[in-house]
Amino acid sequence: NLFILFGFAFIAYLCGVIFINFSGQNYSTIESQAKQNTQLQEDVLRDQMTGLYNHNAFVMQLEKAVTAFHEDAPLCLAMIDVDNFKSINDTYGHDCGDVVLICLAKTIQKHCAEQGVAYRYGGEEFAAVFEGMDTQQVCRIVQNMLADFRRQRFPFTDRAVTFSAGVAAYTPGMAKDAFFEQADRTLYLAKQRGKNRVLKAE
Ligand code: GH3
Ligand code: MG
Ligand code: MG
Repeated sequence: NLFILFGFAFIAYLCGVIFINFSGQNYSTIESQAKQNTQLQEDVLRDQMTGLYNHNAFVMQLEKAVTAFHEDAPLCLAMIDVDNFKSINDTYGHDCGDVVLICLAKTIQKHCAEQGVAYRYGGEEFAAVFEGMDTQQVCRIVQNMLADFRRQRFPFTDRAVTFSAGVAAYTPGMAKDAFFEQADRTLYLAKQRGKNRVLKAE
């Protein structure tokens, strides 16, 4: 009987060891899958070339910012577009165009610092969203951005590359799309008025 009892105890011990190992493996599998999912979610929101948030992220986060808008914290949007970018591509090649875009993305990111969030809207267009600052302050930041970007030199040309920007402030009750269109229309006006400038929406 004692022999049978020891036999059962040993089998129970073996089952315990197997169970602990198995659940440990499952836990680490779940943990690594969770990490992979987080990475995938992050990849879906990032632009591969510049590392900035992408168009999808912009649409989602602008909607969130507009929904959460509170009059105590102004909300501003800057739309930024490289001037004469097609001619950079045509003259020096697509790869040189990419170098310009990566450089601009870094410049925008640097000037957004802790105060704004930078996005690649698409192609050679970028967006920056600022919360808690008025248009005057945001225009100053974007103007510094432009001055900094103009100072950059590239191995394929001695000439400065510039951008134009339109800055708009959110007003209560405005739809997200109307807010975007105001900034985009202002960018268009900046282009019409000669490019290489930052314009505030009227
Ligand atoms: P404007 O001053 O009026 O903004 O003129 P533009 O030449 O900058 O604008 P246009 O819309 O005529 O040309 C934009 C070009 O950007 C066309 C497109 O081929 C190019 N482009 C879009 N995405 C990329 C990219 O990821 N890399 C490169 N190198 N070029 C791109
Ligand atoms: Mg454009
Ligand atoms: Mg352009």
